Amino acid sequence: MIFFVDVVEILYLTHDDGFFMLGVDRINGRFIRTALVHRNFFKRTFTEPVPAMKETFFAKKNIDTYHGRAHFYGSHLVEVGGEVLTGRFILIGVGAVPMRLGILGEEHLVTSTDFAQSTAKENRFSWWRLHRRRLCSHCGSSRCTSNCDPEGEAHADAVRSRPCQLAHGKFYQTGIDVRIRTRVTAIEKSNDGLAIRASLNDREEMFNADLMVYVAGRVPDLEPLDLAVAGVVIEKGHLTLKEFLQGVSNPAIYAVGDAASSGPPLTPVVSHDAKVVAANMLNGNYQKLDYLGVPSVAFTIPPIASVGLSEKQAHENGLKFRMRSENAADWYTARRVAESAYGFKVLVEEGTDRILGAHLIGPHVEEVINIFALSIRKGLTAEDLKTTMFAYPTGASDIASMI
Ligand SMILES: Cc1cc2nc3c(=O)[nH]c(=O)nc-3n(C[C@H](O)[C@H](O)[C@H](O)COP(=O)(O)OP(=O)(O)OC[C@H]3O[C@@H](n4cnc5c(N)ncnc54)[C@H](O)[C@@H]3O)c2cc1C
Repeated sequence: MIFFVDVVEILYLTHDDGFFMLGVDRINGRFIRTALVHRNFFKRTFTEPVPAMKETFFAKKNIDTYHGRAHFYGSHLVEVGGEVLTGRFILIGVGAVPMRLGILGEEHLVTSTDFAQSTAKENRFSWWRLHRRRLCSHCGSSRCTSNCDPEGEAHADAVRSRPCQLAHGKFYQTGIDVRIRTRVTAIEKSNDGLAIRASLNDREEMFNADLMVYVAGRVPDLEPLDLAVAGVVIEKGHLTLKEFLQGVSNPAIYAVGDAASSGPPLTPVVSHDAKVVAANMLNGNYQKLDYLGVPSVAFTIPPIASVGLSEKQAHENGLKFRMRSENAADWYTARRVAESAYGFKVLVEEGTDRILGAHLIGPHVEEVINIFALSIRKGLTAEDLKTTMFAYPTGASDIASMI
């Protein structure tokens, strides 16, 4: 028997502007390849203003580019960089900004953007949602505290589900202290960094942290747009849009992505919105938006992925379905990468055999979820998936045993 060993260990050594990745040959322990990954350099490739190359591409398509913070000047007018532009239609795609919380000491919070820009190596991080933990651990964090603040029963339902329970167990093992139903009420500067006051069922708790990263939600970035000048109505921080993402009070206005907050706030959704809305602005409203089967992934270790209906939503929709939910930590997919958290919950409609929802945690689920997304969007049945030959051993080869 011959083994080919091509596995390398990746060491992350923190560096002021990123981290080193060193490949170590497992057999003889020699470094076989080295690379310095500049975290900030990589980040800048997608956070810096639109690159010149992109502008050249736009120019070839007869699209003019203007620089500056745009705001409305009239119902069909926008001022940007000192110029006033007129449009038959105007598309709002300004994205979202962190929501203001209105709690004492809010100014001590660091946003995900600030965090991505920081080079600090604080020991204790406090998070309000599980996100970017991977980056956190790369920065040398020895303990993470995550205070989930579920807004309602829907979240609590998800938290009770098997994938979520497995995630909590796994995070606990790796030093992440997850608190659910815990509302942060105030943040104070203390001699030891930050003191965080939180309440759980009216019981007050205190946490200490060097840095508190806030990822508790984002709202459309509409305030600087002077929308009232264009006669556009905003309700509770959101645009009032009718079908086709067209303004109710001003039909010359359309919106997409996080600014429209019509579909889930995800990158593939803004691409979808943009294609549909562009077609409708050019040819009249005829294309409809379709958010069926939008997958989402929390890139934790291991990742958590979800698509389609939750068990609660399926019941609320009066659907008849069968469900499989298991802790699959002893399956080969998890064992071969020594991952202790692997689990799933899959809902299949009785009668039609259609996949209604899939909720996964474990190795490779960030890829496997796309196959469930394809099934939901294109109406593939559980039988279709069971009779497909997936490469073995890959995460997808477990699908037949999940449905
Ligand atoms: C920390 C973080 C992690 C995320 N991770 C994921 C992920 O893993 N997968 C995923 O699918 N989605 C992820 N998202 C969500 C995703 O980034 C957004 O849903 C998506 O970028 C929305 O696209 P958009 O075009 O609507 O807005 P944006 O991408 O925010 O683009 C809006 C642009 O408009 C500019 N702008 C704002 N106001 C004005 C103005 N007045 N004049 C001119 N320009 C203006 C902004 O500067 C910005 O460049 C993440 C979001 C955050 C914050």
